[in-house]
Amino acid sequence: MASVKYKWPQNVPGEFYVDECCLDHHCCAEIAPDHFRRIDDGGHLYVYRQPSNPEERARCMAALDTCPMAAIGCDGVPPKLFSLSWWRRILR
Ligand code: SF4
Repeated sequence: MASVKYKWPQNVPGEFYVDECCLDHHCCAEIAPDHFRRIDDGGHLYVYRQPSNPEERARCMAALDTCPMAAIGCDGVPPKLFSLSWWRRILR
C-alpha cells in the first residue's frame, strides 16, 4: 500500500501520488497519461496533474487498481483542505 510518507517529491500536491515502490514500468501512464508521467532521468513515475473531474478521477483510480506494486496512493491531502473555510470548520 502506497504511503504519503514515501511519496516522491515530484508529485504535485493533492489526493493522488506515486511513492518509492514504483518500478518504472509505465503502466499507469498508459492508463492515465494526463496525470502520470515518467521522471526525465528515469527510475520512477509521478503525478504531474491531479484529476479535476469524476472521469479523470476514475482514470487515476484505474491506474491505482492496476499498479502491481501498490505504489499509487489516493490519500494525499487535497489542496482544498487548506482553504480558509476548512480551517474555520475545524477550529469551531
Ligand atoms: S503502475 Fe505502479 S509500479 Fe508501474 S509505473 Fe505506475 S506507479 Fe510505478
